[in-house]
Amino acid sequence: AKEEGGGLCRLFSGEIHTRRDARLKLEQDLELAVENHELTLAYQPQIELASRRIVAVEALMRWQHPQQGSITPSRFIPVAEETGLILPLGHWALEEACSQTRHWQDSGLPSPPRMAVNFSAFQFSQGTLVENVMAVLEQRQLAPDCLEIEITETALMQDPETSRQLLKKLKDCGISISLDDFGTGYSSLSYLKRFPIDVLKIDRTFVTDLPGDAESVAIVRAVLALAKQLELSVVAEGVETREQLDFLEDEGCDLVQGYYFYRPAPEDEITALLAADSPF
Ligand code: C2E
Ligand code: CA
Ligand code: CA
Ligand code: CA
Repeated sequence: AKEEGGGLCRLFSGEIHTRRDARLKLEQDLELAVENHELTLAYQPQIELASRRIVAVEALMRWQHPQQGSITPSRFIPVAEETGLILPLGHWALEEACSQTRHWQDSGLPSPPRMAVNFSAFQFSQGTLVENVMAVLEQRQLAPDCLEIEITETALMQDPETSRQLLKKLKDCGISISLDDFGTGYSSLSYLKRFPIDVLKIDRTFVTDLPGDAESVAIVRAVLALAKQLELSVVAEGVETREQLDFLEDEGCDLVQGYYFYRPAPEDEITALLAADSPF
């Protein structure tokens, strides 16, 4: 029994070691990912239900690791946030997304989509955030209303007053602000009035069980009613089925995003879609 215990103990600490090493390796690799061109953006369309047109796309980071293959954002974004690497990564994503938008505008598409870019809380602790964002827009000669910044309510709550001021400046510049994963954090509804928000994104967890689950139905209806009162536009995330879509449309949701229409896809696939611009 003694031997067994020792063995387990060794095994256990060995495992911890391996995990810690793996994590350290991930950090180091992530640091090099930008310069090694291992990061790309995938774009997922947002469909306006009234017109069935793609009016916006959300930029989502993808990491192709040379040995480990593709690593999901849910694994590397938290590491980037904890290490501060999210600053260079976030800046890269903004530049890349804006350069793509420039490209779509130049290529004579009938209606180039707005670009939604995810921002982390840490990016909102930069004093120069607004200047940085405006410099990227200027560099690409993009009108600020092409850009939407997505931020979660949890991120805003880390330093509400600073966030509010930065969001106000961004909005005053003409950039749209979208509140991501709405309903999953614990912000108070009064923040919806205090923060200069344009769009609410209903989190996928509330969409998944539509229309069968009475609680989900009640929550989504309440969010849509609230948004209407506050004159915010609403995007439902994670729409996968026709039934979910029909419900959301009947309830007056403006925009949907999800696998039912499109998965996030590389630039060339989205370009082809936009060129075809076929309403459903
Ligand atoms: P998010 O901002 O909530 O993005 C939506 C996520 O839902 C994406 O996962 C997307 O691929 C996925 N999704 C979209 N439609 C469906 C659907 O119909 N069904 C299901 N099951 N999933 C759907 P992804 O790309 O893995 O990104 C995960 C998270 O990583 C994002 O969640 C966001 O928080 C973060 N992230 C991704 N790119 C960036 C970035 O450039 N900057 C920052 N700060 N965070 C990012
Ligand atoms: Ca998002
Ligand atoms: Ca989301
Ligand atoms: Ca999310």
